[in-house]
Amino acid sequence: MPEDPVKELAELVDSLSGWLRYQRRLGWRGLPRPAPAAPAARESTAEKVSTLEEIRAEMGDCRRCKLYGGRTHLVFGDGPPGARLMFVGEAPGADEDQQGLPFVGASGQLLNNMLRNLGLRREEVYIANILKCRPPGNRDPESDEVTACLPFLEKQIQAIRPRVIVILGRPAVHALLRTKEPITRLRGHWQRYHDIRVMPTFHPSFLLRAPQERKKTWADMQQVMEYLAEYDEA
Ligand code: URA
Repeated sequence: MPEDPVKELAELVDSLSGWLRYQRRLGWRGLPRPAPAAPAARESTAEKVSTLEEIRAEMGDCRRCKLYGGRTHLVFGDGPPGARLMFVGEAPGADEDQQGLPFVGASGQLLNNMLRNLGLRREEVYIANILKCRPPGNRDPESDEVTACLPFLEKQIQAIRPRVIVILGRPAVHALLRTKEPITRLRGHWQRYHDIRVMPTFHPSFLLRAPQERKKTWADMQQVMEYLAEYDEA
């Protein structure tokens, strides 16, 4: 029996943490993550996960809601399929409809600036919207449009499995999280979409109109960056 087991344990913890710090300095990146479930096991308990290409092909020349009539391009989403950070906006605007890409207009410029200031490249995040087609005059999405389109975004999320989803603005937050809580109460507080962490924050178009609120979204993004850094450390 050791003389003082508490002291002995404290010494052991101390020397173990010194050893871990030393190993980190040598470049050790932590214990290996658990291997992802083998595809067969995953598919046996859940629905088959489609690839982004398969989801896009399934949408085809989509006419599942009335918005198809006014669109130039269906805006599916943009970014790498393995992105660890995903942004979800509301719906394409005029520029996005013209170019077929999300967040390429004025809101997109603000989003790009924010990403740059966070040390992120746009090419490393995935960006999509609740709706894939532009509502006339950029009005809010209507419930039949959300019902028709949301399943495709949900499949995209399943395909990408990002570590964090940042949802931009009230209509997108309400649609994806199926809540009616005001955005002012939700933003800055971690939520969950299935087992994925979600950070609701203000939409860039609101921040263009209310620049004094940008510091709140900046603070929300700091939380996201800290979580991603911790996750990478683990
Ligand atoms: N606003 C959005 O919500 N999405 C876009 O892609 C562009 C503007």
